[in-house]
Amino acid sequence: MRESRRPKPLYLIEKRKELLETFKEDLPEKSLKKARKDSLTKRSPRWCGITIHVTINCPFACAYCYIESMGFSFSDPKPYPLTGKELVFALLNNPAFFPTRYGTLLAMGAVSEPLIFMNKFLEYVESLSELGNPIQFSTKQFISSHLARKLRNIVENKNISLSPLITVITINKADTLEKRAPKPEKRFDSMKNLADEGFKPILFLRPIIPGINDMEINTIIKKAKDSGAIGVVVGGFRATKSILIKLDSLGLDTSEVRRRVKIIKEKQISVPFPEKAKILNSARDIGIIPWATACCANSYTAKIPCPSVCFIDGPCTKCPNNCDYKRDSADVTELKKALGILNIDAKIRDRTIVIKSRPFRGTDFAVRVLSRRKVINYRKK
Ligand code: SF4
Ligand code: SF4
Repeated sequence: MRESRRPKPLYLIEKRKELLETFKEDLPEKSLKKARKDSLTKRSPRWCGITIHVTINCPFACAYCYIESMGFSFSDPKPYPLTGKELVFALLNNPAFFPTRYGTLLAMGAVSEPLIFMNKFLEYVESLSELGNPIQFSTKQFISSHLARKLRNIVENKNISLSPLITVITINKADTLEKRAPKPEKRFDSMKNLADEGFKPILFLRPIIPGINDMEINTIIKKAKDSGAIGVVVGGFRATKSILIKLDSLGLDTSEVRRRVKIIKEKQISVPFPEKAKILNSARDIGIIPWATACCANSYTAKIPCPSVCFIDGPCTKCPNNCDYKRDSADVTELKKALGILNIDAKIRDRTIVIKSRPFRGTDFAVRVLSRRKVINYRKK
């Protein structure tokens, strides 16, 4: 029988305190001040974990990208203003973050391409590796053998888990949809280079845009598998009015998207994606592991029970990571003590935790990580 993989909530809290002290001693007052003011200290974890921004703004300007609706731009890319050590200190000041392999997932690449400034990316990976958390990055950048080797050295020296998600969503329309990003062929080469260095590259097949790239899915999955990808994360499309106008102006057919969403405004809207289950099944038939969420790919690579708890109330695809509530959730007595230390008023009901108070942003995900249980809201009767 496989050994238990229960998180130890008291240890995670203690370790955060210990690391905070270590980094505090290591940084000058100016850096401590700068890090304490950074938005990362208050950023709430999401399903994929806490997002780490390496680059502000993204020069790749993919036609389907929604970062403009979040206040970012396709010009003037800049490295994130914190040094690696400041970044880690900011993270340790976030009450919703917990270190170690069993702690919060870290996701690089949510609002920009993280490998625009290669040295910054390496500096961040190196510094974050001091915490031990599973790290995932999603990229369209070419990863040479040399870079893959550098990453391998960090992983081996620090004994961390690093999960590369390589985005390819089209081969035939890349010149239209992603004309400033490296060609898909180069990204398949990235998969090969990463696999050669012992990584488990994963195809990031998102966004699938109905009527635009959905006809290419199986070809892309097969090619990724041949290039060394061990799995695929499949995701739908978030549309805004401006994105659809842009796609129209490029001569792409948005009628199917418009049929599904009906009313479209500037606010991002998820386009219904009923084909997802079928696509996950066909990926399995092709011979790679299908995932519906990036957190599961990161968890599989790190060999830990999914901190977003997809195995209870998320889209678990029953991957070989084999998360199991009975084996993988925290001990109740220890959990009660931990929630008390964090001033979280909550009731534990078997695999569900009912939260009555949220003392900080991201309380729900913090409780998921500590407990590996589903979290719901307390409702007064
Ligand atoms: S690489 Fe990612 S963040 Fe950059 S423009 Fe394309 S979709 Fe947006
Ligand atoms: S077993 Fe399910 S919940 Fe666990 S990592 Fe795999 S897909 Fe996710």
